[in-house]
Amino acid sequence: MDDLRKRTWAEISLGALRHNYEAIRARLGEGCRFLGVVKADAYGHGAVPVSRMLQDAGADYLAVSCLDEAMELRQNGIYLPILILGHTPAEFTETLIRNDLTQAVTCLAKAEEYSHEASRLGLTLRVHIKLDTGMSRLGFLCAGSRFDEGVENVVHSCTLPALETEGVFTHFAVSDEPGEDNEAYTRAQFALFLRVIATAEERGVHFAIRHCANSGAVVHYPEMQLDMVRPGLLLYGYGDDTGTLGLQPGMRLVTRITTIKHYDALTDVSYGRRFTTEHTTRMAVLGIGYADGLPRLCSNKCSFAVAGGFAPQRGSICMDMCMADVSDIPGATVDGEVEIFGAQCSLETLSAAAQTIPYELLCAVSKRVPRVYLAK
Ligand SMILES: *Cc1c(COP(=O)(O)O)cnc(C)c1O
Repeated sequence: MDDLRKRTWAEISLGALRHNYEAIRARLGEGCRFLGVVKADAYGHGAVPVSRMLQDAGADYLAVSCLDEAMELRQNGIYLPILILGHTPAEFTETLIRNDLTQAVTCLAKAEEYSHEASRLGLTLRVHIKLDTGMSRLGFLCAGSRFDEGVENVVHSCTLPALETEGVFTHFAVSDEPGEDNEAYTRAQFALFLRVIATAEERGVHFAIRHCANSGAVVHYPEMQLDMVRPGLLLYGYGDDTGTLGLQPGMRLVTRITTIKHYDALTDVSYGRRFTTEHTTRMAVLGIGYADGLPRLCSNKCSFAVAGGFAPQRGSICMDMCMADVSDIPGATVDGEVEIFGAQCSLETLSAAAQTIPYELLCAVSKRVPRVYLAK
């Protein structure tokens, strides 16, 4: 990256993402489809370039969270089927149909609204039925005492005149968390999912694509692949399981050293004076702050890779800048590159410092940060 105007940027390795796609693909049973989750701008990696790569590489389906995200893909030449996971108001039924989008249907009332709108237009909307098997978020309730009513509502939705039910899916709450209790919970969600499908199919409906495997399930529960898998985080090369699969991080967040200064011992650094030098210190000012997506919660709790060493971050992280101690790194110089996360500084370590998960930090990389695409 030679462009010195860039104070902070995110290098996206399309090669790494393609490698991850192929590595995940290699674990799938024959005929199992691959849906790439590209919501939230492909977890910050850029929805259009990532979708284009997936389309070229042979993925079968994409998923986004809302209509605007789907339209961005359609307007940029993405022709793969796209599933909208979140709610779309029924007023937009025509837009969904005209753009060949697949809508998740999460309850009978919405199914009826979509069918009503589509009938009025003389068209058919393609849908996937979303079952709530224990996530307690969107979806037809079908656990415990709600089983019969859940199946009834699903069957009713599938037989509405202007809906074409192509698929059925559910989402796991703890498939990525270890422990017997979590494993039992995931298996119970899966069993319930299959039981609702079987009961509904006995009543004459058919689901061509049954899917439930998010990243956690792709890694830990291969028997839950069914007709399609639906990984997000894994595709981008993050999480606890990427090592075992040989996946590569898709993003490297990089900034530059703006200035280097030498401070005496007992110098207070940054807002709130939350760091005081203990001895003479060579301190770099970096061109990245929380407005770029480096959480302020990481202040005084993380290190960055620079010139072959690791510089501890010092003092409160500001909106546009932060400081790092480069006393022990003679190779650190003004304009030198600093890796915030990537191959040397893991995103997982930084997320832990921010008391959050890798997902949140990827999504937090802000609009101000240019994405630079590498073919490798
Ligand atoms: C975000 C999302 C996924 C992908 O989850 P990962 O943990 O990133 O694999 C899959 N399915 C649904 C419904 C989602 O909302």
